Amino acid sequence: MEEEMTGPAPEGTGQVIVRAEGVRHSYGRTEVLKGIDLEVHAGEVVCMIGPSGSGKSTLLRCVNHLEVISSGRLWVDGHLVGYRQKGNRLHELSDKEICRRRAGVGMVFQQFNLFPHMTVLENLIEAPCRVLREPKKEVTERALGLLRQVGLSEKHGAYPAQLSGGQQQRVAIARALCMRPKLMLFDEPTSALDPELVGDVLDVMRALARSGMTMVVVTHEIGFARDVADRVVFLDDGKIVESGPSGQVISSPRHERTRAFLAAVR
Ligand code: ADP
Ligand code: MG
Repeated sequence: MEEEMTGPAPEGTGQVIVRAEGVRHSYGRTEVLKGIDLEVHAGEVVCMIGPSGSGKSTLLRCVNHLEVISSGRLWVDGHLVGYRQKGNRLHELSDKEICRRRAGVGMVFQQFNLFPHMTVLENLIEAPCRVLREPKKEVTERALGLLRQVGLSEKHGAYPAQLSGGQQQRVAIARALCMRPKLMLFDEPTSALDPELVGDVLDVMRALARSGMTMVVVTHEIGFARDVADRVVFLDDGKIVESGPSGQVISSPRHERTRAFLAAVR
């Protein structure tokens, strides 16, 4: 991973890529996000930690239009996402608009979700060719460059089932990057991996962070959060309990619940 990743977001512009103000979300009658305030600036890496069920995945899903927030306001790359109140969608986006906005956000899940019937290279070029309608030749060149950056050049013709979990996850990251997103969301990207495969995936993410990509990473890898994140956010029971520079939150958490969580995962 010597080579620098190609990241679009220039560092130090101060541009806000994600802004949440009092964001709430419920599944039926159960409220799982209880007023989230958060800002993520261009080039920033924010790691989100917290117990299972605290709402981390739901928050990422709201940012990527996979859930509709029930109140508050959420902007992604300067655009307000749809919201509804009391069952009525007040600010509704068309499917086409949602599709266009999602194209600018890469999402990597715990389960790699590659297309099983496509080769690695086909997985990478599918969305840029079909959704962005970019020329195949150009996309293919970009895809091969990305595969080189994640250390999988020689695997471009392989099918997902022929790869290890760690390799599949690196393909999933390269596939997301092939869309040239402004923002990358990671939801426990190493949680499904055998321990010996975790390092390679974290190395790819570390290189991506260094390249200036804006990233929100849900992870239990506290070492990664400490070393790579600009900011760590601790979520518990649908609320941000604590947020601050990674070193401070991890080494000297202010809140008892953060301390208890960190003691349990380390
Ligand atoms: P985390 O990612 O921090 O583990 P989640 O965002 O997945 O938390 O879940 C937050 C809460 O919402 C949990 O109590 C979970 O059981 C509940 N939840 C998640 N997804 C759904 C769903 N599709 N329907 C109903 N409840 C859900
Ligand atoms: Mg989750």
